[in-house]
Amino acid sequence: MNSVLITNAVIADSGSERSDGWVLVEDGRIAAVGHGELDETAIEAFDAEGGTLFPGFIDVHNHGAVGIDVNAADADSLVAVGEFLSKHGVTAWLPTLVPDADENYARIVGEIERVMAIQAEMPIAQILGVHYEGVFANENMCGALRPEFFKRFTGSEVRELPRLQSGVHMTTLAPEVEGGVELVKALTADGWVVSIGHTEANVETLDAAFEAGARHLTHFFNAMTGIHHREVGVAGWALTREDVTFDIIADGIHVDPRMVEFACRTKSPERVSLISDSVAPTGLGDGTFELWGERVSVENGRTRNERGSIAGSVITMLDAVKMAASLGFSMSEIARMASRNPARLIGLSDETGSIAAGKRGDLVVLDAEMNVAAVFIGGRRV
Ligand SMILES: [Zn+2]
Repeated sequence: MNSVLITNAVIADSGSERSDGWVLVEDGRIAAVGHGELDETAIEAFDAEGGTLFPGFIDVHNHGAVGIDVNAADADSLVAVGEFLSKHGVTAWLPTLVPDADENYARIVGEIERVMAIQAEMPIAQILGVHYEGVFANENMCGALRPEFFKRFTGSEVRELPRLQSGVHMTTLAPEVEGGVELVKALTADGWVVSIGHTEANVETLDAAFEAGARHLTHFFNAMTGIHHREVGVAGWALTREDVTFDIIADGIHVDPRMVEFACRTKSPERVSLISDSVAPTGLGDGTFELWGERVSVENGRTRNERGSIAGSVITMLDAVKMAASLGFSMSEIARMASRNPARLIGLSDETGSIAAGKRGDLVVLDAEMNVAAVFIGGRRV
């Protein structure tokens, strides 16, 4: 039996600041968690030396990294992204597709399927499914998405979004597009996670979308209408409805750090997920890149396409976690925003996203500077 015992850790999601926490992982699953005295033994031991132990970070919005764009990736390059992410504390992710030609959607879903069939044996960030950002989006709120691939819902296109044999299916859509609320209903009935985004929907349409099953918003504040005391806007709707959750890009560029703090505090860390929304140049530094049919420059960590839009981020979840820490969020709040809430959003909170017996051994040890000291995926050390 494979086993690993991590000791001398602050366990982030326990709420305790004691640094004598320990976790035993057996055969890929967390077998026991505790503080202080222990009489457990394991084949492999890891001394966290007072570092903080987080559940592995889960990124539900990621377009790629290290020069690899998910829309253009094959199985080998998806594995390379998974390797890169794992070194930054990400233990699971949803490859996120921007609107594209139907043939390419079918191709990339086939490649994702190939990785999902073999990844369990590899200590790389595990692909949990697929996230389609669009194609049912509002042209006025397209951001870096290419409107020429946008669709309207007439009752059949939902079947045209290629599905995996198993796994999470998530899509970001604008409920005000023609047939949008019907589409939310159809997708929810089919088991999709429907997130509202790239939208300027009014409150009535948003409420109707909520009733139809859309309870979450994609990259809060970005590509949506804002908040005004006489014009509630999409952002205002999300902040004033307690039962709505959202995710946010905590790179300090898409949203000013003070507004990240405001949004996460107002919504509550119980109902916010951190995402990277990273794109292919992530991990490569500044430069000029070809992305989604346009030239994208990266300057001081800010992406910019030919239309002048921000075209995704170049951060990892670890950077988002560091940002949250710098804004004063506690380790347990960060563990919720980076792991538990995204796991819950996609219906996998029984499987991963927290440090508890029975969960997958997906764990990250951060040192005092919040740098990665060790990552375990399914109990295997990266
Ligand atoms: Zn995106």
